[in-house]
Amino acid sequence: MLQIKTFEFNPLAENTYVVWDETGDGVVIDPGCYEQSEKEALFSFVEKENIKIKYLLNTHCHVDHVLGNYFVKQSYHVPFLTHAKEDAVLQAVKTYAANYGFFGYTEVLADAFLAEGDEVKFGNTTFSIMFLPGHSPGHIGFYHAESKQLFAGDVLFQRSIGRTDLPGGNFETLIDSIQKKIFMLPEDVIVYPGHGEPTTVGEEKSYNPFCALTQRA
Ligand SMILES: [Zn+2]
Repeated sequence: MLQIKTFEFNPLAENTYVVWDETGDGVVIDPGCYEQSEKEALFSFVEKENIKIKYLLNTHCHVDHVLGNYFVKQSYHVPFLTHAKEDAVLQAVKTYAANYGFFGYTEVLADAFLAEGDEVKFGNTTFSIMFLPGHSPGHIGFYHAESKQLFAGDVLFQRSIGRTDLPGGNFETLIDSIQKKIFMLPEDVIVYPGHGEPTTVGEEKSYNPFCALTQRA
């Protein structure tokens, strides 16, 4: 069974997920840990649960999602995977991180790239990769079909959507990613976003003010 630990890290309140299964193998998704105390919280949790981290995964590479990449690489020496179209987004972070007050950012480049339909396997778990551009050009989601759980980054939030005013963002593309991909999943799929509380496909399909498809009484 998939187990999930959510941390809310850095002043932008970014969700960092540690996901692991019964074998003890796991991954870190979007490590946003910046302060020493945040790094220690992540590290000690992984140690306490005896999780063997296998991959560092990024849904996309905005500053708040990559602040802890260097720490995770240094701690676990695992491959860092994201989409090829996020490479330029990632390489831009060092040019603006200080504008957000993040003076201690150290760049780590991806070891390999993922695309739609690829799979990431660890332990008994398989994530399939969904390409979900719009918030950023190479945004991806990690879908665990067996347990109906999607790690969706900054695409779809509870009653909200990702912003599209950053470089490479596009509103129509984002809405397409939500309506033509995420909303095609079963309604009881749980969506774990990059900020805020989890939601479900069915809830957002009905009640999201930006992209709802169905109306319920
Ligand atoms: Zn973002």
